Order: sequence, then structure tokens, then C-alpha cells
Amino acid sequence: MNKSEERYVGERRRVDLAVRMISHEARTGTIRGCTGLSEDRIRKLYAHYFRDSADPVVRRRRGKTPRQPTYFLTTPARQMEATTLTGLFLAAGLLNVVAHARLGFVNDHGSTRFGLRFCEVYESYLALHDPAAISFERAWNLLDALARNHELGIARCDRCASVHVHDLLAVGRPVCPCCRLKDTNKGGAR
Ligand SMILES: [Zn+2]
Repeated sequence: MNKSEERYVGERRRVDLAVRMISHEARTGTIRGCTGLSEDRIRKLYAHYFRDSADPVVRRRRGKTPRQPTYFLTTPARQMEATTLTGLFLAAGLLNVVAHARLGFVNDHGSTRFGLRFCEVYESYLALHDPAAISFERAWNLLDALARNHELGIARCDRCASVHVHDLLAVGRPVCPCCRLKDTNKGGAR
């Protein structure tokens, strides 16, 4: 492949990724970070592929990405979905276990390859959870929060030993979403 063919393939890959991310309603800043495409180029891609299409479901997200790590722990069901995503992040090599259950990013964070892998993970998550509670952008922030190890991490359940997404600032022994659900159901049966 000569230099100009290589450039074309690289450009095509970035555009395909941007279109795929737009279809998941990723925000412009997130798409820019992975593809290097300009805001204007992303806007044109959205207009070309989605705005005038028969599919009115895809919306263009602007502004700040929501960032509240505790969002993933508010209900056992959401915590379970966040745990599914975390397992997929690890299996796809988007995250790795650094030491003592601490997580970290792999080296190519923010690259086109990373973005493609993230799309594959998110699409697997959508296939496993229908309807899915966690948006693409929220999933992106989950990955970020897990890699930062400030508020969110993984822990082993004090009762059943299953590994799950956990609030690192919480006081008390970690309890997984399945055990939380059992408690809820017991309470409801009384
Ligand atoms: Zn448990």
C-alpha cells in the first residue's frame, strides 16, 4: 500500500468510527477524541447519515458529558449492568487489572482502535441488556471512572464472593447487586 492509499484507509476508518459513534448518540467531544475529526466534519457526517434519514431516533448530543460515578450504583439493576460492562471492558482489553483489584487504561486509550473496541463492547452490552439503562456516553464515563480508581472500582461481594462494580468511598463491606436484589425481594415479600 502506498502513502496515499494508507492515508485513504486511515481516513475511511476514522469516518466509519465517527458514524458508528454518532449512531450510539456519542457526544461530539468523545467522537473528536477518538477520530481526530473536526467538529464541523462530525456535524456534516451527522447531517449526511442521520438528520435527513428516515430514522429519527438518533440525536446529536452536544455539551458536557454527564459525570456522576454514583449513578451506576443507585439501583441493583443498574449496578448489575455496570458490572456487565466492566467485564466486557476487561475482556476486550480496554481496561486491565493493575494490582490489588485496581484498574487502569491500556496504552492506546483515545485512539481509533480504542474507539472501535469500545463500540464493539457497547454493542455486546446492548445485546445482553434489552432495554439497556446505560447510554453510550455514560458507559464511556464508567470506563473513565474505573480507570481513575477514585470513586468506582471492583470488589468481591462479602456474601457470595462475586466480583462487581463498587463504590470505593463507601463505608462497610461490599455487597454485590444480586445480593442487594435478594434483600429487596425479601423486604417486598414481607
Ligand atoms: Zn453477592
